[in-house]
Amino acid sequence: MNRIQVLPKAVAEKIAAGEVVERPASVVKELLENAIDAGAAALTLEIQNGGVRFIRVTDDGSGIPAEDVATAFLRHATSKVHTDGDLEAIGTLGFRGEALASVTAVSKVELITRTADELEGTRIALAGGEVLEQGPAGCPQGTTILVRDLFYNTPARMKFLKKDVTEGNAVRAVAERLALSHPEISLKFIKDGREELHTPGDGKLLSAVHAVLGRDFARDLLPVDYALGSVRITGFVLKPVSARANRNMQFFFLNGRLVKSRTAMAALEQAYKGSIMVGRFPGCVLHIALPPALVDVNVHPAKTEVRFADEHAVFEAVYYAVKNTIAEKDTRPALRLPG
Ligand code: ADP
Ligand code: MG
Repeated sequence: MNRIQVLPKAVAEKIAAGEVVERPASVVKELLENAIDAGAAALTLEIQNGGVRFIRVTDDGSGIPAEDVATAFLRHATSKVHTDGDLEAIGTLGFRGEALASVTAVSKVELITRTADELEGTRIALAGGEVLEQGPAGCPQGTTILVRDLFYNTPARMKFLKKDVTEGNAVRAVAERLALSHPEISLKFIKDGREELHTPGDGKLLSAVHAVLGRDFARDLLPVDYALGSVRITGFVLKPVSARANRNMQFFFLNGRLVKSRTAMAALEQAYKGSIMVGRFPGCVLHIALPPALVDVNVHPAKTEVRFADEHAVFEAVYYAVKNTIAEKDTRPALRLPG
């Protein structure tokens, strides 16, 4: 029998990284969430080769102070949670302090950052979890992070990556969801040198929907604004006459985060029952706002499923919000698109 030994740090890091970083889209999700948490007003995401070769996120957020830059890449290092009491009311997208450590363990990373108080920024370069260089650098306020050669040191992971087109589409899906969840942020997505998406960041959900999901979809929507108990539902649902051939156009956000909720989906379909033909499906972009105490957010970072303390209350709120909207407003004229 083999002796039992504690894993060398480098091996343990690669295993832990695998939990957070599955493919380029998971890296992009973490980097965009960090930029949003940093209070950015504008983000640019660039990828090449589906994100496998190159991912760059530039934000105009808070930046990281020079003395904290290296610490940001350590596992469980975070500025967002300090005590276990903080875990009870998380107001940021990230809080585990694992993303940068994980990404750095399986790629080559360069980060340039400056806070508003600093005259000079900082540049750091890492590969395979090790710091290669760190020093001062001139840069605007905010952060740019470049991730190259994902999984260069974990060939087994590399083999599971799909074609660049498929990985690129998964990245786009992440960018779209974050754009829809934050209409106040302008997001630009550039793929292999071509601009694929650019949201205005004017704070209007309909503008983001228009930019991300297209003019035709945005035109066929009805506005929703409904509250039941402590649950508030806002956003848009598709007119029954414009019902779709699949469920691809159903987006639910909970307190600003894209989520999957069987309860919300079931309530949506139930509300359309009798208004659309069999084999046709509703579409929606619905934001569900709930007191944080009624949601279990401390779930796995890569998973989007949520649990509600009161599933029934959420079902009812979504059901009546949608039902009332489509019942009374189906004959109203098309929405006026901003811009
Ligand atoms: P988490 O987001 O869970 O705190 P991360 O590993 O993603 O953990 O990031 C570690 C820390 O690095 C963050 O808590 C934050 O202080 C800092 N950070 C990361 N990205 C940015 C960014 N784009 N702008 C400002 N600070 C950042
Ligand atoms: Mg993070």
